[in-house]
Parts: sequence; C-alpha cells; structure tokens
Amino acid sequence: MNHRIMEQYKKLGISPEVYAAGERTEEKLKERFAAIDQTAEFNQLKVIAAMQKNRVSAECFNISSGYGYNDIGRDTLERVYADCFGGEDALVRPQITCGTHALALALMSNLRPGDELLSPVGKPYDTLEEVIGIRPSKGSLAEYGITYSQVDLLPDGSFDFEGIKSAINERTKLVTIQRSRGYSSRPTLSVDRIGELVSFVKGIRQDIICMVDNCYGEFVEEKEPLEAGADMIVGSLIKNPGGGLAPVGGYIAGKKECVEHAAYRLTSPGLGKEVGASLGVTQSFYQGLFLAPTVVSAALKGAVFAANIFGELGFSVIPDGSQSRHDIIQEIEFHSPDAMLAFCEGIQAAAAVDSYVTPEPWAMPGYDSEVVMAAGAFVQGSSIELSADGPLKPPYAVFFQGGLTWYHAKLGILKSLQKLFERDLVNIGKLC
Ligand SMILES: *Cc1c(COP(=O)(O)O)cnc(C)c1O
Repeated sequence: MNHRIMEQYKKLGISPEVYAAGERTEEKLKERFAAIDQTAEFNQLKVIAAMQKNRVSAECFNISSGYGYNDIGRDTLERVYADCFGGEDALVRPQITCGTHALALALMSNLRPGDELLSPVGKPYDTLEEVIGIRPSKGSLAEYGITYSQVDLLPDGSFDFEGIKSAINERTKLVTIQRSRGYSSRPTLSVDRIGELVSFVKGIRQDIICMVDNCYGEFVEEKEPLEAGADMIVGSLIKNPGGGLAPVGGYIAGKKECVEHAAYRLTSPGLGKEVGASLGVTQSFYQGLFLAPTVVSAALKGAVFAANIFGELGFSVIPDGSQSRHDIIQEIEFHSPDAMLAFCEGIQAAAAVDSYVTPEPWAMPGYDSEVVMAAGAFVQGSSIELSADGPLKPPYAVFFQGGLTWYHAKLGILKSLQKLFERDLVNIGKLC
C-alpha cells in the first residue's frame, strides 16, 4: 500500500478498502504479470526488427494524396506487417474501414461463384453472418452463389475432426477460423491449436485457403497464426495492432496471392496495391504498431486482474483467473442487471474521455435484447481502449477488454468494484 497513490485514487472516488482489496489481488499476480511482460518484450523486439529490416525512415511518414502512387510509407509499412506477422505480403490501409470490412474483403476477393466457405469452429462473429448470408443481406456471399457450411466445436471445446472431414468437398475453397471467442461462449483458440486445425485441413486438401480472423489476438502470444501454417490473417487497426494510435483501418497479411486478390478487390482490377492515398495517417500506423506489444500487455493485465477480483467475489469469469490467454477479452457473468450496470458505469467513469456520462441500455439494431456499452475512447468504438459491453439478459454477462495502459485498466476495474461495493452488490471481505 502506497499512501500517496491511495490519495490519488481517493480523488478519483476509490475508497481505501477498495484500493487495498485491489492491492492484495495484484500482489498475487506478480508471476503472471512477469510472464505477460516477457511476451511483450519478445514482441517489441519483433516489431523493431521488422522496422529496421525494412529501413523505416522519416520519409515514410510523408502524406500522400490523390491516387497515392509511389507512397513509400504505405508500401514499407505493408512489408513491415508482412515480416512482423510472418507473411509474404500484407495490405494495411485506412480505406479498410473496420474489422468486418477487412474480413469481407478477404472472403469476397478469394472466393468465386460456386465455391464453398467452411467454418470448422462454429458460428462466426455476429457481423459476418450478413457478410456470408447466414442472415440474408444485400451483397452477401450467398447472393454471389458462394455457399457456406459450418461444423461446430464439440461440447468440450475440441475440434470435430470427423465432422470437418465430411464437410470438406471438392467445392471447399476457403476455411475461416476465428481465433478469439468474440462474444460467444466457446474457448479462444491458441496459435498452436489453430496450427493443428490448419494441418488437418491441409492434410485433406493442400490447396484449401486457411484464413484466420485474428481480431483481438495480435501480440497476445509470441507466435501468430501465419507462423503456424495459416495462409491469411485478418484484423482491425482499432484493436490490438493499431496500438490505440491508428485512427482507422484494417489489415490482411499472408500468402502473396491471397493479399493480391484482396488488393484488386479493395481498389480495382489492374490497380491493386498501387493506389490508395494515406492522407497523413501512416505515422500513426507505424507508431501504433510500435506500441502495440506493450498496449496489448496492459490490456492482458487488466483482463487477468478483473478475472481474479471478480472470480474471488464469486462471479463466473471466463477465462478464469489462472487460465492461459489467447485474446484480450474477459467475460464476467453477473447474474444481475444491477451488478452488470454498476460494472459498466465504473468502466465509463474511469475513462479520460466522456467520464461524466452514464451508459444506458438501448435497443441496438440486430440484437434481440437491450445492450449496454461503456466506452470513453479517443478513437470512436476502439476496443483496444478500455471498454465493456453486453446484452441485458441472463446471465447478464459483460465482455470487458482493452486499456491502453495497465494503470488505466486497473483504475477501471477498481472503479467498477467501487460501484458494486457502494450499492451493496458485493462483499469485498472475500478479497483477502
Ligand atoms: C471485432 C471483431 C470483428 C469485427 O470487427 P469490427 O471492427 O467491429 O467490424 C470480427 N471478428 C472478431 C473476432 C472481432 O473481435
């Protein structure tokens, strides 16, 4: 306990008993945090090595406009991403508007009418349902005559190898593997498990493209899915690899041919990667990537800290306080709307931006119940920044992620604990 720091927390509304409870939990996590720091150190060196190898210079930060021909900064950054993630090539662009767009682009450019897409890990992320056409939608893959099949994970979370084998047919062109659990209850896949699945698929047919939805997974481990045999990884720059600094963007990295297809679809046949003005965002892409390993480590510490605190208080936490991590998402089941709202209010109140607003549940399009979201972010909707959300229905689960610094993540969790404590929704005596 440090009294000067405790006084600072007091100014932000954290009472001494909540601060002390946090300190006791943090004390027990020393080894865990040291392991997270080692991964960050490894990945920091990996990023710097990729930047040095590609001779990143001040010239790379120049602004291009119009067509964006000969944008050295953009082209160099794409080689940095490729080297960093173990790919042959990459497409890293502000014109890719979000993660869903990057995934849609990777799918639509690498699939042709008559092909089949297979998800061997169950239902993909919500927004992909409309991309694929699982829920009918204008412009979906289904409208272009691309069919979809799905094999769920077995009840114990393992791969249904038999089911996958029988689902693969002569039209199966691409397999999509989501690394993070996203907002579902299945386990997140480690890079090693993704490697196992890719080997199995390639063992059936070598030419099937294995794509990984890498959202929320970058820099959580020392290895990325391309190094485990995947052909293509896809993600959002307002999550992990943007390091909180990228104001927009998405990326696709992997086999040269896969990336090329995506580039011709993003711009135009014949133009591909040659066009696309960077409009001044390139420096933030570089600097964000440079910071990403430590930003991800901060988010991971926050997730582990939250799992330990709320787990000890008796809530179900997934993953639990001791499980290994393969993405930055933490789920906490509150089994009470009051506790869920109190948690989200705490996260919001801890923000540097919009701390004075109260998150209210609302009927968001596409959801069958009200949703509550807490986010005070520098970049709109950025979920590498401290944020929490969840549907207001049993089990009243909150998905919590991000934190650009560990100290901010810690404040957010303590602030949430404070709200629950003040409303008599927890017994912090359990935290000892
Ligand atoms: C966030 C996310 C997406 C979609 O990204 P958006 O940027 O929100 O469009 C897709 N898949 C997973 C696993 C994600 O976490």
